[in-house]
Amino acid sequence: MRALTAVAVLAAVTPLLLAVSGKAAVLHPLPLDDPSNNDDDPPAPVKPPRLRIAHITDLHLDPHYDPTAGADTWCHARTAQQQQKHDIYHARLFDAAGTANVPLSWRPSHAAAASSVARYGRIGSPCDAPMVLVKAAIELVSQLNVDAVLWSGDTARHDRDNKLPRPEAEVYAANAQCAALFANATTAPVFPAVGNLDVHPHNQLAPPPDSRVLPRLAASLSPILRTASVHDDFASTGAYVADLAPTLALINVNALYWMAENARVPDCTTPDSPGTHMADWLDLQLSLISRANRTALVMGHVPPATGPAPSTHSGNGARHTPFLASNYKPACATRVLATLDRYAPHVAGVFGGHVNDDSTLFVARDLATGAVGLVDAEDLAKAVEHGAEPGRRRGVVDGLELRVPVFAAPSVIPVHAPAVRVLEWDEGRRVLRGWWQYYLQIDEDGERGGVPLPGEGNDRRW
Ligand SMILES: [Zn+2]
Repeated sequence: MRALTAVAVLAAVTPLLLAVSGKAAVLHPLPLDDPSNNDDDPPAPVKPPRLRIAHITDLHLDPHYDPTAGADTWCHARTAQQQQKHDIYHARLFDAAGTANVPLSWRPSHAAAASSVARYGRIGSPCDAPMVLVKAAIELVSQLNVDAVLWSGDTARHDRDNKLPRPEAEVYAANAQCAALFANATTAPVFPAVGNLDVHPHNQLAPPPDSRVLPRLAASLSPILRTASVHDDFASTGAYVADLAPTLALINVNALYWMAENARVPDCTTPDSPGTHMADWLDLQLSLISRANRTALVMGHVPPATGPAPSTHSGNGARHTPFLASNYKPACATRVLATLDRYAPHVAGVFGGHVNDDSTLFVARDLATGAVGLVDAEDLAKAVEHGAEPGRRRGVVDGLELRVPVFAAPSVIPVHAPAVRVLEWDEGRRVLRGWWQYYLQIDEDGERGGVPLPGEGNDRRW
């Protein structure tokens, strides 16, 4: 499943703008205590509440984004005059301790490298996101009237431009800026995750005290890390657990300790490795959830695997390699998938980003061999057709039992159409009922002639 193209989205959302605020206003069927009720009347049936949870990911805020520069320079200006402005900007942005001391601001652009001006981002390019786009996405979250926000990491820009290397302080500044925007935009709790671009150098993370990255990142995120225990857990491990509803908990893992590219930690074959500890911790948290007969959403920036699927069938039609290659170190992948499989009835889904795409995979078990791995069900509709329902009933597709859905929400970085997803948890049935996807209105030139408005995509899922 791929995000709609910008053009298709624009066409789909324009007539639906007015529906957004209306829908947001009616999706809280909490029972109201009306004092005017006559006591002789039979009590109205009490509907269990439904929880609306936003999922936003991969903001990739680029403070150097230039709307007139082209994708060939990563949307960074290249003239000497602009370089000078960049240097001044950096001198103002960071104090001697490397901490952001003034709000991020944008340099005026004088470049003419691109044939068009793309104020809100270059859709389909490898450029990161301008602040106006990030602000619009967070403003959209504020308008969606949600009960909680999953913010699954990769907030800082990529370090792709060798003429404009990314300083470590920029990682914390981007996270601090976005945390402050979230704190101002919504009263709902916002739950962050650490992404592989939220550490420096990217992908590389050792635990404290060998690395000070996690404590610094926690300090940047302090406006939204609401309790001392969540702050301390994030600062020491990058992971924490939080309650979302009586039946529902969020388990945020630090998947960087499992990620194959992270050379600072060993594979989970080492008993004392950070990855082993993180896997043990996930196992413990899910065992507690299971014993309490509750359900968990598991969040981690890097999913256990990413599509698209390799060829899953041989020429004669017999399946021979059903599982996707993992993003994790081999032993860590085995541990994590076994844990998710073991507690599958108590895991409504795994939620992440990283792929800058809109995809759904499944932790699946091969019924013939008992092996567990990640599969791309190719089309969620096909999985549902075969009986898959997150949080309740799992389907069987081609001899593979689908155990736990693994969702990557669409990114804000405009690789495809930027969007925010809103999940709905049914507290009564204790299932994830599905999601709405809200696309930001940006045309293919990265312009809209004004502040992008929230639009509703045409895809209510499940
Ligand atoms: Zn990532």
